[in-house]
Amino acid sequence: MAMIDYSWVVLFAVLGLVFGSFGTVLICRVPLHKNIGGRSHCPQCRHVLSPIELVPLMSYILQCGRCRHCHRTINALYPGIELSSALLFTLALFLDRSPLPALLLALALWLLLLIAVIDMHTRTIHDVLNFSFVFLAVAYAIAIGEFQAIGALLLGGFFGLQWLLSRGRWVGSGDILLGVGIGFLLGSMAPALLCLGLSYVLGAIVASYLLVTRKATSKSAVPFGPFLAMSTLLTVVFGDRIIAVLILGLF
Ligand SMILES: [Zn+2]
Repeated sequence: MAMIDYSWVVLFAVLGLVFGSFGTVLICRVPLHKNIGGRSHCPQCRHVLSPIELVPLMSYILQCGRCRHCHRTINALYPGIELSSALLFTLALFLDRSPLPALLLALALWLLLLIAVIDMHTRTIHDVLNFSFVFLAVAYAIAIGEFQAIGALLLGGFFGLQWLLSRGRWVGSGDILLGVGIGFLLGSMAPALLCLGLSYVLGAIVASYLLVTRKATSKSAVPFGPFLAMSTLLTVVFGDRIIAVLILGLF
C-alpha cells in the first residue's frame, strides 16, 4: 500500500477547514435564500468579522468560543462543521489516494454534511446543494472509472415511489434527488442497498431514543436526510467489509 505524501494530508486538512468555514456560511444563508456573497458577521451583534476572526477553528479556540465584540457565545455548530469538514477531506484522501478523485469525494461528502445539517434544522433539502451533490457524485464515479446508474435508479426509484404513494408525506421531494446522488456515489446495487438498510436502522435507533426520552412523540416528523448522509458515510468507509461479512453470514 503506497504511503500518502504528508504534504497532501496537510493540504486536504486545510482545504477541509476552508470549505467547512464556507459551509457554515451556506448553512446560515441557503435556507433563507440569502446571497452567499458579502462579509460574514456575528449573528447576534451584527459586528462584521475581521480577517483574523474568519480563520476557521483557530479563531473559535483563540476567542474561547465568544464573539470578540459582544462576548456572547458562538454556536459550537460552526467550529463543529469546520472540524468535521477537515476530517471528511482527510478521510477522502485516505480512501482514494490519488488527489483528483479524493477531492471530488471530499466535496461530495462535505455537501452531504451540509445537506444533513440543514435538513436537521429546517427539515428541507435545497435543490442548489442537491444538484451540486449529484454532479459531484457523477464526476467522482467517472474519475474512478466506476460509473454506474443502477444505484441511482434504485435509491431514486425507492424514494420516488414513496413520495408518489404518500403524496409527499413520508419523504420529501428533496430525498429523491439526494437518493439519486447517493446512488451515483455508491455505484452498484449492493452498497446502495446496504446504505438504505443502514439508514433505516440508524433512523429506528434514534427514533426509539427520542420516544423513550420523550423528546419526540409518535406523531413527530423526523427528517431522513441526516440518516441517509450518515449511512452513506458508513457505506463509503466500511461498505466492502460489511458486505463481505453479510455474504459470509448468509452462506
Ligand atoms: Zn457579537
